Amino acid sequence: MTMNEPLTQPLNFIKRIINDDRAVNKNDGRVVTRFPPEPNGYLHIGHAKSICLNFGLAVEYGGRCHLRFDDTNPSKEETEYIDSIMADVRWLGFDWGTHLYYASDYFEQLYDFAVRLIQAGKAYVCSLSAEEIRASRGTLTEPGQESPYRNRPLAENLDLFARMRAGEFPDGAHVLRAKIDMASGNLNMRDPVSYRIMHTAHHRTGDAWCIYPMYDFAHCLSDSIEGITHSICTLEFEDHRPLYDWILGELAVACHPQQIEFARLNLTYTVMSKRKLLQLVNNGHVRGWDDPRMPTISGLRRRGYTPEAIRDFCERIGVAKKDSMVDMALLEHCLREDLNRRAPRAMAVLRPLKMVIENYPADLVEEMEAVNNPENPAAGTRNVPFSRVLYIEQDDFMEEPPKKFYRLAPGREVRLRYGYLVTCVGVVRDEETGEVREVRCTYDPATRGGTTPDGRKVKATIHWVSAPHALEAEVRLYDALFSVENPGAAKDVDFQELLNPDSLTMLTGCRLEPALAEAVPGSFYQFERLGYFCVDAGDSRPGQPVFNRTVTLRDTWAKLQQKGPQE
Ligand code: ATP
Ligand code: MG
Repeated sequence: MTMNEPLTQPLNFIKRIINDDRAVNKNDGRVVTRFPPEPNGYLHIGHAKSICLNFGLAVEYGGRCHLRFDDTNPSKEETEYIDSIMADVRWLGFDWGTHLYYASDYFEQLYDFAVRLIQAGKAYVCSLSAEEIRASRGTLTEPGQESPYRNRPLAENLDLFARMRAGEFPDGAHVLRAKIDMASGNLNMRDPVSYRIMHTAHHRTGDAWCIYPMYDFAHCLSDSIEGITHSICTLEFEDHRPLYDWILGELAVACHPQQIEFARLNLTYTVMSKRKLLQLVNNGHVRGWDDPRMPTISGLRRRGYTPEAIRDFCERIGVAKKDSMVDMALLEHCLREDLNRRAPRAMAVLRPLKMVIENYPADLVEEMEAVNNPENPAAGTRNVPFSRVLYIEQDDFMEEPPKKFYRLAPGREVRLRYGYLVTCVGVVRDEETGEVREVRCTYDPATRGGTTPDGRKVKATIHWVSAPHALEAEVRLYDALFSVENPGAAKDVDFQELLNPDSLTMLTGCRLEPALAEAVPGSFYQFERLGYFCVDAGDSRPGQPVFNRTVTLRDTWAKLQQKGPQE
């Protein structure tokens, strides 16, 4: 198998379930899914997996996918997050059409459902403190203890619940609990809390409510209200499914969505929980949610990731029932494949060393023809100015080259890509430090365009930029955010101690092809021999782009594949 062929995925288990459902005309064959983020942070690449899955199924089966904000906890949620989530889903290439919903839109309906549960004798107002409830919950091996309020008369429950809503009690005075089974082997079934008092304004409903439904209560009912057929979520909700089924069953709702769990995405060298990502932002370890080192969608976008590459990645990792860790190298591999096809090439020198071509006329400037994208002939060519004084990369020259160094060295000839063959005839040193400040060369006028009419061979081709024409710019290089493979699993040490101190390198004074002055924010290029770069959407100014290195050219994933199958 070569890495350029699309991997044909066998039908995943979720599609098999849906196909079986459609075969017996369950839900009249309809497929309605949803992506239900809690607006308490920015989306990350794990969410992208869920988005691609849910929206992808809707597209594939001619159904629809809702975007629903699970905004039941007013203390952590913000409008900024809602806006960013919508922008990220759209950027990934998905469309919810008119199906944008908020769990908070259902507060009245959810309240009515709760009242119906009380009326059916299936819920009660409990006046234990949160601490007491926790303490009486029991353990995996021991049953819980029934609350002394469990058998409150129905009328008293209804009265207290109405007064909770009316704001008569302070936070924590009472909760509403489902009356299920304190001895259940599943802790989620031990009379879970369904409503709590919270005198906190909500970003959408304002001060209308001072009681809010718990996630478990609101989530399954929101799915039902919206007519979701397949409620797809991550594995940690498997143990909650009996509770959802109980609530939906007791209320005998018309629509009882089928929950299907899949393994969440974990990626090496990063963390994926919003809580931890928020800590990185708040503690100043990164420059914001969209820092190019973050695994957030907005961070990846700013780093130069394309929606095409992320969708391809999500397709390749597939869905499974077993938790696993995906190698960051695979995500980068998908990106390289996409950018290799599409990114225009350019020349840029990140750590400049001056080169003077002694026999090149001082007043001559030639326009050299350079190929824009060897992968795409339609991309054509461009002209790059060539003159007597150039910049080359510092590490393309060595005064005393070791054995396997084939690039420029005293007395040696190399090719300047699209330029000429040049031979190093000397160096100019800094008088004080002795460091090489400048390399002196001669060129062979018969080798224009880097050709060798006499067929002579040179071992290296290096890139360059004409000094008087160069655009001086800042370029930022990135490395993994963490220095260990699985920072989330670290025990006895705060994950923030495991940050890679070299995750960001800011280079100023880089010299770029002059045409790059016009590069627009978000656009991407391959800087020859150096990697893929994009114009930073935050810090660039007209005529003064700042570049982010998106990814290097070295494909560690393809290498791993050649060595043999991976776990
Ligand atoms: P986090 O733990 O990062 O805060 P979350 O699950 O609490 O994530 P939600 O906003 O509740 O975040 O998630 C919205 C949807 O995205 C859910 O259906 C959830 O299952 C899914 N999701 C979240 N993280 C991942 C992940 N790493 N891989 C796949 N799906 C995920
Ligand atoms: Mg959550």
